[in-house]
Amino acid sequence: MDGTAVLREVSDFIERPKTMTIGGAQVEAASGESFEVRDPSTGSVLTEVPRGGHDDVDRAVAAARAAFEDRRWTGLRPGKQADILQRVGELIKKHSVELAQIESLDAGKPLKLSSGEIWAAGEAFRYYSGWPTKAYGETNPAGDDAFVYTLREPVGVCGGIIPWNFPLIMAAWKIAPALAFGNTVVLKPAEQTSLTALRLGELCLEAGVPEGVVNVVTGFGDEAGQALAQHEDIDKISFTGSTEVGRKILHASESNLKRVTLELGGKSPNIVFADADMRRAAKGSMLGVFLNSGQICTAGTRILVESSIHDQFVESLVEATEKMKVGPALDDATSMGPVISKEQLDVVTGYIEIGRAEGASVATGGGRLEEMGDGYFVQPTVMTGVRNSMRLAQEEIFGPVAAVIEVGDAEEAVAVANDSIYGLAAAVWTNDLSKAHRVARGIRAGTVWVNSSGLYDPGVSYGGYKQSGFGRELGVHSMDAYTEIKSVWVNLK
Ligand code: NAP
Ligand code: MG
Repeated sequence: MDGTAVLREVSDFIERPKTMTIGGAQVEAASGESFEVRDPSTGSVLTEVPRGGHDDVDRAVAAARAAFEDRRWTGLRPGKQADILQRVGELIKKHSVELAQIESLDAGKPLKLSSGEIWAAGEAFRYYSGWPTKAYGETNPAGDDAFVYTLREPVGVCGGIIPWNFPLIMAAWKIAPALAFGNTVVLKPAEQTSLTALRLGELCLEAGVPEGVVNVVTGFGDEAGQALAQHEDIDKISFTGSTEVGRKILHASESNLKRVTLELGGKSPNIVFADADMRRAAKGSMLGVFLNSGQICTAGTRILVESSIHDQFVESLVEATEKMKVGPALDDATSMGPVISKEQLDVVTGYIEIGRAEGASVATGGGRLEEMGDGYFVQPTVMTGVRNSMRLAQEEIFGPVAAVIEVGDAEEAVAVANDSIYGLAAAVWTNDLSKAHRVARGIRAGTVWVNSSGLYDPGVSYGGYKQSGFGRELGVHSMDAYTEIKSVWVNLK
């Protein structure tokens, strides 16, 4: 294998004892405990991170509260806030090779994908650096006797809880908008992938984010995560993760009726019509489901294909899939890495067996890649003969498994697409302009891609319908997620 050499900064970081950023200091867990994280490409222990718990969350929330109350961030001139956010983005880009290697080791992502992720995290800070200077309020109609205006004020102390599939992007999507609108933050990364979030905590301080404004607590979901979600001094939780844990977050928010936004799971339809450009559709559909080993919330895992082209399309899809080079994250030739953990490996291969038992056929792939040693490798798998009622089509797998479903026409495609508890995203492949727009309108999902899939931009709002969550991240609508609106009445009589 032609492996990438690991940078000195990366091996130094991996080897040194990890600390969390709380109140501007680098600290261990109050308990002194830590836990192991593994390299998914080898299954071996990579390093340890602090096992933050209740006490650490308390410390971090107190630091974020103090920073919020004394307005050390909120009260800064907007241009100054912009400079600092911009600087965080620049530091992420300056350290991009280091961060990408850390992400590849920690999350098992091919280096090219990690590099794209790190760049996008930097871009999120750059985008949000534009907001402090533009978060205008309004003047309101209220008659001659009054002058009424609205202020957009920060919500306060925000908790961010994130998954393991795009660790640094997720961290950036929580921290950058919260800061842009004047909030302070406590972030809990996923237990499998804490490393780049720990580096981001350090880089925020280096960029000049005042102490206590960004705090990072590593730990387990049912310890640190739950403590954060329940905390009575947290004003808002922004959660990205599974629908199952999203429900728990919502329950926990009862304690003080904190604001909650939820970015949850999906089972996104990817619809291919007979009039589509077949090669583009096959390659796009393949990447739409297998990129990041299928561990993308918007992955187009239900591939709905018009009957008249079904066999021909499956052939192209299988051909494109078999070109994927599955291998270790730091191998230059790799286009698809392992899944995140042994647990996830078992879940994914379990679903392939469920699909078989339900009567679906394996067109390519079909199980674990045994020859890859102890790494968590699954073959990119295409299953055909799937009915939308099967578990294979209804449940989020979060791994490299595509379910191909035959549909008769556009009307049936929309009905099948919408027959899901989820509504996160969809893709439509067609060269018929009006069909594209009609179908886009018919689908109940937060994002629809036409003749593409998996495109994001910090300026474009993003979020789910139905059980894929509520609230919107990114773009102009993220202002609603991170501000309160205050109406001020001034008596002119
Ligand atoms: P997850 O199991 O729901 O975990 C997400 C985060 O919640 C982790 O940090 C986890 O900590 C924490 N957590 C677990 N139990 C908790 C509790 N009781 N209270 C508070 N926090 C708790 O999700 P995942 O397995 O990491 O990620 C995969 C899921 O994320 C998929 O369902 C995917 O669709 C979804 N996702 C959605 C989007 C979106 O934007 N809509 C984006 C990416 C991923 P631990 O790590 O310790 O478990
Ligand atoms: Mg890991």
